[in-house]
Amino acid sequence: PEDIRVYEFAEACGKSPAEVITVLFSLGMMVTKNDFLKQDELEILGEEFGIEVTVKDALEDVNYIEDYHGEDVDESSFVTRPPVVTIMGHVDHGKTSLLDKIRSSKIAAGEAGGITQHISSYTVEKNGQKITFVDTPGHAAFSAMRARGANVTDIIIIVVAADDGVKAQTEEVISHAKASGCPIIVAMNKMDKESANPDMVKAQMAERELTPIDWGGNTEFIGVSAKTGEGIDELLENILIQAELLELTADPSAKAKATVIESSLEKGRGPVANIIVQNGTLRIGDNIVCDTTFGRVKAITDDNGRPVKELGLSETGTVLGLNEVPTTGSIMVVMDSDKEARDIATTRAEHARAKELSKSTKVSLEEMSGLI
Ligand code: GDP
Ligand code: MG
Repeated sequence: PEDIRVYEFAEACGKSPAEVITVLFSLGMMVTKNDFLKQDELEILGEEFGIEVTVKDALEDVNYIEDYHGEDVDESSFVTRPPVVTIMGHVDHGKTSLLDKIRSSKIAAGEAGGITQHISSYTVEKNGQKITFVDTPGHAAFSAMRARGANVTDIIIIVVAADDGVKAQTEEVISHAKASGCPIIVAMNKMDKESANPDMVKAQMAERELTPIDWGGNTEFIGVSAKTGEGIDELLENILIQAELLELTADPSAKAKATVIESSLEKGRGPVANIIVQNGTLRIGDNIVCDTTFGRVKAITDDNGRPVKELGLSETGTVLGLNEVPTTGSIMVVMDSDKEARDIATTRAEHARAKELSKSTKVSLEEMSGLI
């Protein structure tokens, strides 16, 4: 809707910008000729000038690429993909510890020494099936991802410390999780502690409409300890059961589509994007566009930091080669040519800049009118 400027609109319907501005001004709407018109302003103008106004998204031609995997898909090339599981919960309830414990418990003894540093996403295997885990991206980032329709998560685990119970951020997480529509598993952590009180957690969660199965509800509650490893196998088994019910599939032969879960600018490496592949296979040399950034995949590392040539379905790792740092939650898509990738990114960047500019002129106009 905010995609046409006053002067462009005037030109399109054979009026002068002044005529358009006058109509809006008479109704108390202050615009300048470079401002973008809002939906309601367009409707008023349409009525005033006796023309039919249909609104087309200016970015339609470039944004289609983010769901083009949905069109002309050949179902026969779809295979089961691993679930992506996000761990959320109140600060200090043990999200990071739990992730670290799950990871170290799944790694062969010889390799375990290699893990010193926490990473925010990785894939493990349980009973020959893969599961990808993501540390809570922070509530703001999670909301941003949802707003962009980046549904990277299939299953949400809400961690509640059994000695502490439901806290402010637990409440927030519950509402995010419910809004996402994902299956929820409650992990009652710190069960090794003397003061652990799982019944208290169950009662508090039941009050918030997450009722345990053994209380006649349909939410799975699992007692775990990130310290001793208790309950972790049961948790993983439960994830696999939920995943099976979801019937998650994707096409490994498609051009890749991935979601950025973290990004940074690293000395000597440039923009680094930590991603999860949602469809297809991402390879070195692929031309990528990611929101307003673009580039060619220069290097990929897997969740162990080892260089790899590609990332497959639900796999996670880092990608080098973008010209700028992409925003969290943005979607990376592979294009046929570097020109295509560059054109799309450039169109989006220009559009974003124009919008920003239009906003700032509006603000200064309002400020001015306040002074007069
Ligand atoms: P996060 O903020 O949710 O990521 O929480 P952390 O993983 O950083 O854990 C917060 C604190 O709780 C740390 O001091 C952990 O050592 C401790 N902790 C985490 N899990 C357990 C557990 O299962 N048992 C005990 N006793 N302590 C735990
Ligand atoms: Mg943490």
